[in-house]
Amino acid sequence: MTGLNALNLLRPGSVEEAIAALLAHPGGRLLGGGTDLLVNMRRGIAQPETLIDTTGIAEIKRLVADGSGVTIGAGVTVATLAADGLVAARYPALSQAARCVAGPGHRKLGTLGGNLCLDTRCIYYNQTEWWRAANAHCLKNRGETCHVAPKGSRCHAAFSGDLAPALLVLGAEVEIAGPSGRRRIALGELYVEDGRAHLALRPGEVVVAVWLPPDPTAARYVKVRQRGAIDYPLAGIAVALTRSGSKIAQLRIALTGTNSRPFLLAETAAFTQRSLDDALLREIDRLVQKQVQPMRTTLMPANYRRVVAAALASRVTAELFASLAQG
Ligand SMILES: Cc1cc2nc3c(=O)[nH]c(=O)nc-3n(C[C@H](O)[C@H](O)[C@H](O)COP(=O)(O)OP(=O)(O)OC[C@H]3O[C@@H](n4cnc5c(N)ncnc54)[C@H](O)[C@@H]3O)c2cc1C
Ligand code: SF4
Repeated sequence: MTGLNALNLLRPGSVEEAIAALLAHPGGRLLGGGTDLLVNMRRGIAQPETLIDTTGIAEIKRLVADGSGVTIGAGVTVATLAADGLVAARYPALSQAARCVAGPGHRKLGTLGGNLCLDTRCIYYNQTEWWRAANAHCLKNRGETCHVAPKGSRCHAAFSGDLAPALLVLGAEVEIAGPSGRRRIALGELYVEDGRAHLALRPGEVVVAVWLPPDPTAARYVKVRQRGAIDYPLAGIAVALTRSGSKIAQLRIALTGTNSRPFLLAETAAFTQRSLDDALLREIDRLVQKQVQPMRTTLMPANYRRVVAAALASRVTAELFASLAQG
């Protein structure tokens, strides 16, 4: 870890002031709880001259429910999400995901916005400055070659936030504010499959809030990690399911930890109106194995992450299906 350089710290009081600060300081970075960004700064990976602290912006700390759904501000802490009664009652998968983010101290400071905009991770990147320099850096940061896929031209660092998959299967949308106004997009559209630039945010844009629909589907989140606590997912799986009698009415599966973006598994519509049997579970397993792209970015072999992601997806689907009363 290295010391921090001299910094310009701004504390905007509104989203508009935060946008103006980002435009006035193009190399500046938004700061939520700092539990990701400050670690990367101490490792010399991120070197912003200006930090724009969002914790004084009241608008992004809202957690409100009305007839149209639930709006959770980007500044709401992970600990609040983990403990909130409304979230636990309506969106238990989100509570489950929040409870397994990092450790209690990180959750107390870490925010929803910071979790969704977490930098991607790789064993060749999340290292000290001297370690990376000794290895000629890499494509993602000041180098010319990817050590994971040296013949390729892209970075495969993995997105490892726990909240995104739970929100994806729940049908979340994200509100973004920027110089040309506000827009609301499906959460999946916030992400790009590129470990160097995995967020589709334009210059000056701020994530303001996440919106969840009022009638939630039953859902669960589980993750596999190397240690039992304070560890990023090697693979994290969220499943949302409704059943109609003995058949699946709707199935959504989302993944984190395996690709450079969290994503909704494609082609799950093929499972609707089907009974849940071993053949269907094997199809889910195959579909996950086909769509995940784990690379050698963690100490755990990529193939383990592929196989465990698929096994978890079919296991959680079966458990969730069994837990729902026949409708
Ligand atoms: C030891 C350790 C273990 C961890 N384990 C996990 C884990 O298991 N699961 C997990 O999900 N995370 C884990 N984390 C990462 C982190 O603690 C959480 O993801 C946390 O929620 C990040 O939120 P933050 O507010 O602290 O982010 P910050 O560090 O403040 O910000 C992260 C990124 O988001 C950007 N950002 C922040 N707010 C906004 C906004 N409103 N709009 C746009 N961009 C924004 C920042 O500019 C920065 O690039 C771990 C961290 C550590 C140090
Ligand atoms: S995947 Fe390659 S380019 Fe990306 S961080 Fe790892 S070594 Fe660097």
